[in-house]
Amino acid sequence: MTDMSNYLMPEGMRPATLEERRQFYASEFDVAKVADWLRGRQGKTKFAVIMGKHTKIFLPEYMEDAESIIIIDEYRGLEDVRSQILDFLPEATYYDRNIYDAQDHAVGQELAFDLDPENITCPVHGTLADKMRRHQGLSFCSLELALVKDQTVRLYEHLAETYSRLRVVYSGRGFHIHVLDSAAYALTMAERQKLAAAVKRQGFEIDEWVTAGEMRLIRLPYSLHGMVSRLCLPLEKNEVENFDPIHDEKCIPRFLRAKPTSS
Ligand SMILES: [Zn+2]
Repeated sequence: MTDMSNYLMPEGMRPATLEERRQFYASEFDVAKVADWLRGRQGKTKFAVIMGKHTKIFLPEYMEDAESIIIIDEYRGLEDVRSQILDFLPEATYYDRNIYDAQDHAVGQELAFDLDPENITCPVHGTLADKMRRHQGLSFCSLELALVKDQTVRLYEHLAETYSRLRVVYSGRGFHIHVLDSAAYALTMAERQKLAAAVKRQGFEIDEWVTAGEMRLIRLPYSLHGMVSRLCLPLEKNEVENFDPIHDEKCIPRFLRAKPTSS
């Protein structure tokens, strides 16, 4: 279990308080942009939240469910989703990459690649196993962030040889690459596993679980990453290399921008 006392991260990143989550989802969370992101998806999209698994920050009335994945699949529109998120004040908000038919059977899945800084082997902090041994499995440093950006750009270019509808998202920690080609939605589980393994063999430090489809949730673009107080933000591929999530105001929530940055 992650203990926040061992949690190291780049300067300026820190967990959001419940009040900050409330401010963010009440006034800053842009459902019009979320609608744009989800446009073109087949069927109804399911959302999910986790209230306090990593941060241990959650509303006391939700103590028993604080570490669980809560699925939001009954809603009248994105404003209703927002109001349900405001009830939970989660540390993390996701959507389900699966596509469902009218009987709620999964009939396809958006393909995605998850590149997280903690998976990067760091010259200073070592491998993920080294970090886990020190109980710092979710910690990361600025160097890992730089290395993960480089891997993201190279993986994007590699995938662009096969797919044409690629999107890259700053996840709040690392990066996600979403593949929106219809051929990718139709991949079988076995094909996804093969693809994930092939990408790993090529040296990309991805989370295989995400690409293989077992973890079907992915962080919702424009939501708040409550562990680091950063927005999950779609980027152009050519923005990735110079993207600076420590200082770039586009990904910094208002509750942190309002104050002078500490040094
Ligand atoms: Zn490091």
